[in-house]
Amino acid sequence: MRQEFSLPQGSSNREAFAKASSFLEDCGVLEPQNNARLLLMHVLGLEGAAYYMAQPEPFPAELITAFTDAVNRKGRGEPAQYIIGQQEFYGLLFQVTPSVLIPRPETELLVEAMMKHGDELWPGGAPRAIDIGTGSGAIAVTLKVQRPSWDVAASDISSEALEVAALNAAANGAAVTFREGDLLAPFAGERFDILVSNPPYIPAGDIAGLQREVREHEPRTALDGGPDGLAPYRIMMAQLDLLAAPPALVGFELGQGQAQDVAELLRQAGHWDLIEIVPDLAGIERHVLGIQTNVTKL
Ligand code: GLN
Repeated sequence: MRQEFSLPQGSSNREAFAKASSFLEDCGVLEPQNNARLLLMHVLGLEGAAYYMAQPEPFPAELITAFTDAVNRKGRGEPAQYIIGQQEFYGLLFQVTPSVLIPRPETELLVEAMMKHGDELWPGGAPRAIDIGTGSGAIAVTLKVQRPSWDVAASDISSEALEVAALNAAANGAAVTFREGDLLAPFAGERFDILVSNPPYIPAGDIAGLQREVREHEPRTALDGGPDGLAPYRIMMAQLDLLAAPPALVGFELGQGQAQDVAELLRQAGHWDLIEIVPDLAGIERHVLGIQTNVTKL
């Protein structure tokens, strides 16, 4: 069995980094040096030049437990974001716990696409937007911060996730309404102009093949999209009937190879005359948008 990480009293910060790096490497952690540095900076509360200046100094005895705990958690494959408790998204800081998916950089492009089309469809207006399956609240909170005139609401099936999302909304000064429930269900009878969602989309059978950080530590509810990964999109298309009217702008995030299928689901729903597929920075078709180009101005 693998040994636990320990750090002798009197080690320097440089030694703490070196020992943690080689321990994480032995554990098979990817990027052991980056992870060791990130955890050490977090525990010491130092960044940039201050962190490098402190290299020769003795590692503070009162922080040994915090650092060894952090390194041991990382050694067991936990994402560094859960250990340090935060992730940046669109320049904002989000608290993350194992109850929420860690926000990913490609989702920033979905937020940007919604703002761009929202601005075009409702110039100077105040559209009503919903973020379905909000998780940490990354999409909803960012939209509200970037577009304060928009009315933003969000749902999640997990009450634990909603607690995290509400904390993130408060910490970022974003007045977002949160509802607990399955996808669109909590908004039955209401009217929205914009629907955005990054739902779980991994085919259930593919989860076992994901990297350990994701497979063993991120919430399965946020990953598992049913047999072919498309169940949440189908359900949302069916649930549109619950709303007072279909939103004029919809935007979905999806996984590799799913764009054509999701675009087809939108076409079949028949509410949007323009269906757009947006690639991410790696060139993967990552987002599908549906747009009613002749929308009534607000
Ligand atoms: N909407 C959240 C995000 O984009 C959560 C996504 C999810 O849990 N599938 O980060």
